Amino acid sequence: MIYENIQEELQILKQLPEPVVTWFRANKRELPWRDHPDAYRVWVSEIMLQQTRVEAVKSYYHRFLEALPDVKALAEAEEDQLLKLWEGLGYYNRVRNMQKAATQIMVDYGGEFPQTYEEILNLTGIGSYTAGAISSFAFGLAKPAVDGNVLRVISRITGSDRDIMKQSVRKRMEKLLEQVIPADASSDFNQGLIEIGAIVCVPNGEPKCQECPAKEFCVAHKKGIEMELPVKKKAAARRIEKRTVLIFRDGETRGIRKRPAKGLLAGLYELPGVDGHLTMEEAIEYSKKIGLTPVRVKEAGEAKHVFSHVEWHMIGYQIQVDELEESCTEDMIFAHPEEIQQRYPIPSAFEKYMKYVI
Ligand code: SF4
Repeated sequence: MIYENIQEELQILKQLPEPVVTWFRANKRELPWRDHPDAYRVWVSEIMLQQTRVEAVKSYYHRFLEALPDVKALAEAEEDQLLKLWEGLGYYNRVRNMQKAATQIMVDYGGEFPQTYEEILNLTGIGSYTAGAISSFAFGLAKPAVDGNVLRVISRITGSDRDIMKQSVRKRMEKLLEQVIPADASSDFNQGLIEIGAIVCVPNGEPKCQECPAKEFCVAHKKGIEMELPVKKKAAARRIEKRTVLIFRDGETRGIRKRPAKGLLAGLYELPGVDGHLTMEEAIEYSKKIGLTPVRVKEAGEAKHVFSHVEWHMIGYQIQVDELEESCTEDMIFAHPEEIQQRYPIPSAFEKYMKYVI
């Protein structure tokens, strides 16, 4: 149902604050970033949560905060350390942007996290959701924090069939919510909506309407159309790229290389490889071409990795060579397995092949 009049939706949403806040206070999960929610902690956790499940984020979060406990430490971190801490989370530009924002905070705000929504939104890599989350969770400001969970919950509550993939729909929802956020409980209200989306009005499968504090006035529930909402237009199909991954090793060391400074997985380290699927003979030829002497070659199997716009379909070969360092003409780093593990951030795209490396 598309409301012509924003007032109708507003009337429904005005019923939300009290039940949502009460429900959240009674049902919230204990999560590490909910203790002492200062701006830095909220920021780190929210950026991590954009890409990974809550359970998986916990260990990353602790490790990151231990290594980089505040804005200053983040601003001053070496790139390799930063990427190593992010290894496995993906979307490495997000942590690079966090470092840029940390530098902005050091330079423009003397290291103190800015405390207005507009200033927070101005920081590199911070969009309206994260700005709303930091503003409300850390500073108690009455600003909305609309993520995918909230888009789904509010679409169902208001019975809206607007396409939630559109920016304009998100903006409209932010505007509506801003008018109903309780000034004295903005953090619990925003977190409550997100939490309902995570554990009650779930994305996959039936929502648990009987447990939901909005069931009395939820339009989708009343009409029995919970599963039809929200409307989400399909994203364009991903491009498929074929890759051959080559695990070069001699008795002691393995070959890795640094990816270019721009583009996919920029600045991270990878197992060498070439575009397309090589046969074993072609892989041997390629090894010789770059100055190596293969003594034994074995298949390392297939793997697939899905990025947001691209899928890598990989095949791999383990290539035992005579001596790596002496003869290779490619720009490679030759390192011992322990060194690779401790020092070089290698993205999870190569996870399947890392057992042949370390
Ligand atoms: S009543 Fe059901 S559909 Fe409506 S918000 Fe709650 S869980 Fe979602």
